Amino acid sequence: MKVLFLAAEAAPFVKVGGLGDVAGSLPPALAALGHDVRLMIPGYGAIDWARFRPQPAGAFEVPHSGGSEPGRIWEAESDVPVWLLTGPPIPTDRGIYSTSIAEDARKFLFFSLGALSACRALGFRPDVIHANDWHTGPAVYRLATVGRSDPFFRDTASLYTIHNLPYTGRGAGPYLAEYGLAAKPALALLPEWARDSLLGLGLVTANVLTTVSPTYAREIHPPEGGHGLERTLRALRDRLHGVLNGIDVRAWDPATDPALRERFDSVTLERRAVNRAALAEEAGLVADPDAFLLGMVSRLDSQKGFDIALPVLSGWLESGGQLVALGSGDPAIERGLAELELRFPGRASVRLRFDPPYSRRIYGGADGILIPSRYEPCGLTQMLAMRYGAVPIARRTGGLADTIIDVGDPDGTGVLFDGYDTISLAHALDRALRVYAQRKSWIELQRRGMEKDFSWDRSAAQYESLYREARRYRGDAAG
Ligand code: ADP
Repeated sequence: MKVLFLAAEAAPFVKVGGLGDVAGSLPPALAALGHDVRLMIPGYGAIDWARFRPQPAGAFEVPHSGGSEPGRIWEAESDVPVWLLTGPPIPTDRGIYSTSIAEDARKFLFFSLGALSACRALGFRPDVIHANDWHTGPAVYRLATVGRSDPFFRDTASLYTIHNLPYTGRGAGPYLAEYGLAAKPALALLPEWARDSLLGLGLVTANVLTTVSPTYAREIHPPEGGHGLERTLRALRDRLHGVLNGIDVRAWDPATDPALRERFDSVTLERRAVNRAALAEEAGLVADPDAFLLGMVSRLDSQKGFDIALPVLSGWLESGGQLVALGSGDPAIERGLAELELRFPGRASVRLRFDPPYSRRIYGGADGILIPSRYEPCGLTQMLAMRYGAVPIARRTGGLADTIIDVGDPDGTGVLFDGYDTISLAHALDRALRVYAQRKSWIELQRRGMEKDFSWDRSAAQYESLYREARRYRGDAAG
């Protein structure tokens, strides 16, 4: 199949969170199954153009109420061919996402519709467009509406993946008309909320919908998980599937990772102690080989559970634990973490920035990684942690529940807790400490996590069969 993979970010070009990891690693896994996969992302100025050297590949126009907007396509070589789209709404400075919906709606309307125009300009007629998150919803919508009577796209099916449901691109409604998407009657058929959000446009019109773990797919139906969209999601439930994310096991391999002081695998796990000591030193912590060194690598967002973590971490540090945290985002959470470092010098270390090499040293050196998420569509942090021998201590929600086996099970790979409250979290840390005190059990726990297969192989095959399903739906709709 010819597959066009559309995303707002993709590693190694540009990455803000898990979407970037997925868009960087799923397309090559699909290509390995024999499909002709192309990845398309906006050509932001934030991309290191000198490093990737994208070459001009074509030009296109996006119809706009103020006259059409010109765009250009640049091709870069990666594991699959990558097309970067540039044009007036795509920022040439370092911005990726803005806080202004006016800016982001225009940016992603241009990108989504430009992607379709670019396919035509390049003569690439996809069998399936795999669109991701709210930024690409208009491409799905356009395919489902005017695309059905367009000979070029008539047979192109859509699969739309929701990586994080609350991010809907709400408030985009006023900008649809600029890009010719406000035409009745198609838009009038959508529920009212969907007419005002780019996610809604795609959600309601995609041939097949997926989200990034089976548990999250179930969780988004009841009122508390659906973020107000539960009625729509219930109506669409036959089309919605949960497919677990994988990780790029070549790019994330402690046996070859140049960011680490000492490389290791599950057989040479004892070498990891060197990384633990190096991490403590780099983080400015006092050397304390007996303390439990807890790591956190996270966007600082209310989703990630810092409201229950911060009070518990004070107690953790008071009672002799250590902490290395890396993250950026919400200023209130940044302040809360910075305060811990001030109160516990030498025991807590906080770096408020985005720093991938340092994240690797945390995964490869910390004893455990804390992930107390309020909700977690899939989560990659826990898989990266396990691969690098750090034991996840996580809330049993979404993809965390699907990828971590609690230590109470003989096959355990981590410590899970249920309640979203400080007591449940503190109890989980106590359980971790108890196992940590029995070195042999702890090492077995680390080893089992390291030996888990988190590669894309299984999930890529699932997407392949869902692409076929999407094509059947498309064919039925056309018939
Ligand atoms: P989300 O997509 O919600 O942010 P995930 O767990 O799916 O959460 O993915 C997060 C990804 O971003 C992981 O690869 C993690 O290592 C990385 N990450 C998060 N914060 C930072 C940071 N401050 N520096 C480097 N990498 C980070």
